[in-house]
Amino acid sequence: MEYYSTNGKAPKATLRKAVVKGLAEDRGLYMPQTIPHLPESFFREIGSLSFRELSYRIADAFFGEDIPADKLKGIVYDTLSFDCPLVEVSPGIYSLELFHGPTLAFKDVGARFMARLLQYFTEEEGHRQVNVLVATSGDTGSAVANGFLGVEGVHVYVLYPKGKVSPIQECQFTTLGRNITAVEVDGVFDDCQAMVKNAFMDSELNDAMKLTSANSINVARFLPQSFYYFWAYTQMRRLGVSKEIVACTPSGNFGNICAGLFGKRMGLPVKRFIAANNANSVFYEFLRDGEYRPRPSVRTIANAMDVGDPSNFARIWDLYGKSHEAVCRDISGVTYSDAQIEETIRDVYRQRGYLCDPHGACGYRALKEGLRESEAGFFCETAHPAKFKDTVERIIGEEVAVPPKLAAFMKGEKKSVPMSREFTDFKNYLLDR
Ligand SMILES: *Cc1c(COP(=O)(O)O)cnc(C)c1O
Repeated sequence: MEYYSTNGKAPKATLRKAVVKGLAEDRGLYMPQTIPHLPESFFREIGSLSFRELSYRIADAFFGEDIPADKLKGIVYDTLSFDCPLVEVSPGIYSLELFHGPTLAFKDVGARFMARLLQYFTEEEGHRQVNVLVATSGDTGSAVANGFLGVEGVHVYVLYPKGKVSPIQECQFTTLGRNITAVEVDGVFDDCQAMVKNAFMDSELNDAMKLTSANSINVARFLPQSFYYFWAYTQMRRLGVSKEIVACTPSGNFGNICAGLFGKRMGLPVKRFIAANNANSVFYEFLRDGEYRPRPSVRTIANAMDVGDPSNFARIWDLYGKSHEAVCRDISGVTYSDAQIEETIRDVYRQRGYLCDPHGACGYRALKEGLRESEAGFFCETAHPAKFKDTVERIIGEEVAVPPKLAAFMKGEKKSVPMSREFTDFKNYLLDR
């Protein structure tokens, strides 16, 4: 399969190039040349397939030409070494729990898949080490670090702003060791991101070492997220839900919902999608009047969605042929204030006994307010509520138990490399390694 750039000014790329480079030369995002429609036989069998088998069939449709079947199956099965259960929260509203992976958030799926794919490509190329640079304000760094942990031929540098990530998040990437190096930058998130961008543009550094990025612009990170939309659909049908199905995704950079939209294009019978936003409502406003007006993000309690210029907007725009009307046929939007998110967490917990995290709460509320009589829906519960322990405890007035997986990180020894926010310091550090 070939990949083209959403900006249309870069040459087509192979899967290998799209994964290893991340972004196209013209700064556009890579898109698969064709989106395969899954065969009738797949949809006849879907009800009897395991999560892993179902996911492998989807992966095969995209990556089967480029990766031998046994390797690809190994990559998919290794990625999905945990469950994604579907839980009924209130009549007709289901939570797709995507937080049973190593760092208790949905990003584990894409990060692990990408790590295994990169490993496959480096093995093929004779083991020249690839270095992944990732700037994080918390969640991405932990998912990427854990996804790549122990993967041969790949070294990960996680750059994070000193004193600005939560203690739980920090220990999820500073205690790992092995092929993961945490770099504690004396600055803010934007400094970390600028250092990573400078590194990709520095020719001396790129001649000396192979560098790549692991955020959701990478096709290997966002596409695998389509697997669990099919899984949610299947589970709802197995539970006897016969209404039309609506999918709702709490969205920041729009990588997750974009994968769901790809699923629909592949034949997934989801009727429509809802993009749930916090106060960062650029996409919501775009749906309303067709104008895309990116702006700086504002801080909210659902902070993994504090994004003012969603990077995957370009993919959605391209997928719908740059037609506002076409986008609006499949997707509607909502935006919620922190007060509304808090109210939702409290009400769902008291009335239903289900504890949402601040992101999932936006998804639940959107379905509660938006489902029609003929519809049932699921929302992506994108993180375990204990990842936002302080916020959630304040809202419900009760202690939130920390799952053993999370507690284990907190016992590890924290190790990081102190760094100024000057790019030359970081560059010299890399060159000396
Ligand atoms: C990253 C993240 C999101 C947003 O996902 P996008 O793919 O960026 O839209 C939502 N919730 C949580 C908990 C996240 O970590």
